[in-house]
Amino acid sequence: MAKELRGRKKKNISGDEIITMNNVSKAYATGAPALNGVDLHIKKGEFVFIVGDSGSGKSTLIKLLLRELVPTSGEINVMGYDLIRIRHRKIPKFRRNLGIVFQDFRLLKDRNVYENVAFAQRIIQMPGKEIKRNVPSILATVGLAGKYKAKPRQLSGGEQQRVAIARALVNRPSILLADEPTGNLDPKNSWEIMKLLEQINENGTTVLVVTHNREIVNAMQKRVITMKKGVVVSDEEKGGYIDDED
Ligand code: ADP
Ligand code: MG
Repeated sequence: MAKELRGRKKKNISGDEIITMNNVSKAYATGAPALNGVDLHIKKGEFVFIVGDSGSGKSTLIKLLLRELVPTSGEINVMGYDLIRIRHRKIPKFRRNLGIVFQDFRLLKDRNVYENVAFAQRIIQMPGKEIKRNVPSILATVGLAGKYKAKPRQLSGGEQQRVAIARALVNRPSILLADEPTGNLDPKNSWEIMKLLEQINENGTTVLVVTHNREIVNAMQKRVITMKKGVVVSDEEKGGYIDDED
């Protein structure tokens, strides 16, 4: 940790910043750059929407924050970890700080709700006694206390996404990243999931949500970062969805 803290001082990242990108570009082997000179500064405890047309680089940005991808150029710092210089053996420890939720839930289909969430704790070798305490508690938080024995196929889309959120949160990450978490949900379930993410944020977790849901973004009055063709084109406190030619 000392090394990361030194790195942090050297780069002059302000103390309450939890995510920093400086001039980040990412080019895949083919096509135009997916990200082109992105600067991103997110403080601990913020709730941020990331919006933009399909192909504008939102998922690439999320993958860079997870250190699933390394940028072509630029600097990325998440929770004091320098993601360009981080050693491979430290990546699992770094990732414990992050919870991730996807559009397609990605649950284990042959395991019940309890086991899907407990799995995340087993990966970090949480003692069984703790797992038995933590899993019911997080399932209650997401409103699924009564469903712990159900298999994913027995649940609605909204319930499945709640299981995925519980799994993302059970190891108590500092940051929750959600890439189009309501993309497969109807409006009512979308609202419920966004309200749940807001509640999680109010309990102290920094939350980044990639979404296409205009109505919700406009209603929730959060910070909104808009991307277009790999560039951040606007970043507004209490923003809305910028209407575009799409
Ligand atoms: P968004 O999530 O906003 O839809 P993405 O980050 O998925 O955007 O994609 C940004 C751009 O990068 C798109 O042009 C996409 O086709 C391209 N891209 C994404 N992933 C890859 C990949 N693995 N290889 C090549 N190009 C990719
Ligand atoms: Mg995407």
